[in-house]
Amino acid sequence: MKEPTAGVEAAQPAVDDPYHAALAQLARAAELLELPSGTHRMLARCKRELIVHFPVVMEDGELEIFTGYRVQHNLTRGPGKGGIRYHPDVNLPEMRALAMWMTWKCAVVDIPFGGAKGGVACNPKQMSQPELERLTRRYTTEISPFLGPTSDIPAPDVYTNEQTMAWIMDTYSMHAGYTVPGVVTGKPLSIGGSEGRSEATGRGCVVVMQEAAKHFGMDLGKCTVAIQGFGNAGSVAGYYLAAAGAKVIAVSDSQGAIYNAKGLDVPKLRQHKARTRTVGGFDGAEGISHRDLLEMKCDFLVPAALEGQITAQNASRIGAKVIAEAANGPTTPDADAILQSKGVLVVPDILANAGGVVVSYFEWVQSLQKYSWSAAQVNEYLEGFMTKAFHGVYATAQERKLDLRTAATLVAVAKVTEATRTRGIYP
Ligand code: NAD
Repeated sequence: MKEPTAGVEAAQPAVDDPYHAALAQLARAAELLELPSGTHRMLARCKRELIVHFPVVMEDGELEIFTGYRVQHNLTRGPGKGGIRYHPDVNLPEMRALAMWMTWKCAVVDIPFGGAKGGVACNPKQMSQPELERLTRRYTTEISPFLGPTSDIPAPDVYTNEQTMAWIMDTYSMHAGYTVPGVVTGKPLSIGGSEGRSEATGRGCVVVMQEAAKHFGMDLGKCTVAIQGFGNAGSVAGYYLAAAGAKVIAVSDSQGAIYNAKGLDVPKLRQHKARTRTVGGFDGAEGISHRDLLEMKCDFLVPAALEGQITAQNASRIGAKVIAEAANGPTTPDADAILQSKGVLVVPDILANAGGVVVSYFEWVQSLQKYSWSAAQVNEYLEGFMTKAFHGVYATAQERKLDLRTAATLVAVAKVTEATRTRGIYP
């Protein structure tokens, strides 16, 4: 990337942070597309970054000060769209990477949104419901200059859920003086959520895995699968994989990992996790280490937890034939190169986990129209969007002899660049 002559570049991110990975992926696409240096430099930066520090009254009456973020990467194709994460490791470079990946994801599946992401550095597992409610309402108020149904629309992400979205929607509506359901997606059905939204990420991931299996001569119904992370994305993907006949032989969450060569009973495991809050201790499975799970010999590995899980340190030991990235950014660029040389196929995050944002788009449309679609309609449309996106990326990969991640990023960057060129640079 050419150095700017007048603007001043931000410091380069650390090599092990996700923004570094996102920039490396963008650089590869920019090179293949022969993007002008100015366009590349524009896309490498986030348009708006809001950092907020705010107090919350805790149960013991003390004030705790939290740091939150909302980052908008690019809004050329539409309003900002992206989840809200509550996790102790939330930080600005992570938010930038996740916002950039949202821009590409919305472009890959061709929905009219730009990319955004937000989060609060906190440990929600150690907080009570009233503390989480106060934190959410204050954080929403602090980032409200960015939010709005036509400007920036959050959704759930790691350790946030439908209830979090309900509090965001209510807080925003209280300030507006009227109810604004279109300001968030992933809301409960009772306040304008969509059928199929809570399952959409996992369901969409399985649609893409079906297509990938077909194209690579595998039968998903006969495949073995290991899943890292058993929350919204991972547990739903596991459910639909098992329903399709695949054998889910191992799963993990932050507290443990389990294995059964004959296949785990996923519906029962979901009940066990809901009851005990961990997959550990599930009847009919043996405990294994987190490392064993990632390196397990299987057909599909589904990382569905956090970024940076498959790295240069462990990529050579990955035992799966295909990696379907339900999580955002689980594979580092160094690991990608190693996996490619081993012949492991990676179905990238911006394609594999796009089902969530696709149904978020449907929810937003329903909220704006004040009209509800049936579950059958949502799922049929979701399948159509995911299949079309897979074929578009696959065709580009074949045509240009690229891996699927590079092809997907290339498709996305080309769409955003074309929109930018058509709109022109203001003023
Ligand atoms: P979640 O909070 O519902 O679940 C996260 C799961 O990961 C939990 O089971 C947690 O215990 C587990 N986990 C955390 N650290 C772990 C570790 N080190 N090893 C193993 N497991 C670990 O979150 P989610 O919404 O399912 O999000 C998971 C991933 O999917 C994230 O990367 C997120 O950005 C991505 N994603 C989510 C959605 C969505 O709609 N929720 C959409 C697209 C992408």
